[in-house]
Amino acid sequence: MAAAISLAAAGIDFVLLDIEGTTTPIAFVHDVLFPYARARVRTYLEETTPSDAGTRQIVEDLRRELPASGFPLAADVSEPPNEGSRAPSRPPQDTEIVSYVYWLMDRDRKSGPLKALQGRIWEEGYVSGALKGEVYPDVPDAFHRWTASGRRIGIFSSGSILAQQLLFGRSSAGDLSPFLSGYFDTAVGAKGEPESYRRIVAALSVHPSRTLFVSDVVKELDAARAAGLRTLLCVRPPAPTPPAGGHDVVGSFDAIQA
Ligand SMILES: [Mg+2]
Repeated sequence: MAAAISLAAAGIDFVLLDIEGTTTPIAFVHDVLFPYARARVRTYLEETTPSDAGTRQIVEDLRRELPASGFPLAADVSEPPNEGSRAPSRPPQDTEIVSYVYWLMDRDRKSGPLKALQGRIWEEGYVSGALKGEVYPDVPDAFHRWTASGRRIGIFSSGSILAQQLLFGRSSAGDLSPFLSGYFDTAVGAKGEPESYRRIVAALSVHPSRTLFVSDVVKELDAARAAGLRTLLCVRPPAPTPPAGGHDVVGSFDAIQA
């Protein structure tokens, strides 16, 4: 089932990597990053809102998206009850913005300002050293091996580009950013859409057939293959191998030779 591949033999110039489940345990995002942001969010907003225009912009954006979100804003007690009106018209209080952020996190909502806020909190954590980006032990060696033979490496992840840069720039294996020459997030399109991969190879000026996309999700690989890229399903034990849909399978980057 599991294969070994030689990038040289396959004519690969560029290796495009998914993060979660591929370079990094899925548990890192869910058990480390998300809880860190959740634990810090109240303090972060309190500490940085007075002095930081970026935080104030995020709060402003949260305020703007809140009314259409479905978040249950309590009716203002100073207003008479108004039958038939669903949402109160008053602006949300700062304490409610914090509750709204928790509410978004609990639902894993794809909110732009939430993502921006989490990114800032993680940045602070990485810079202070409280957070280190986790990569599987075979990843740094593979980065060395592939780049030493002239291959380039990039990232395509649903996490923001800032979050990607922090994860690899301040990783448990040191600064891996010198090995990376392209970061893409869903601003380029969804990971399940072939058009996203067409945009990425165009942005990189690489030929799709000389680009290898590695992911743990078959649907993403199907989309990349539809755009003409080469694909590799990375299933790390003890994760069970899903039906691979015709994609070659590796259990770690050790199987991806230069
Ligand atoms: Mg993944």
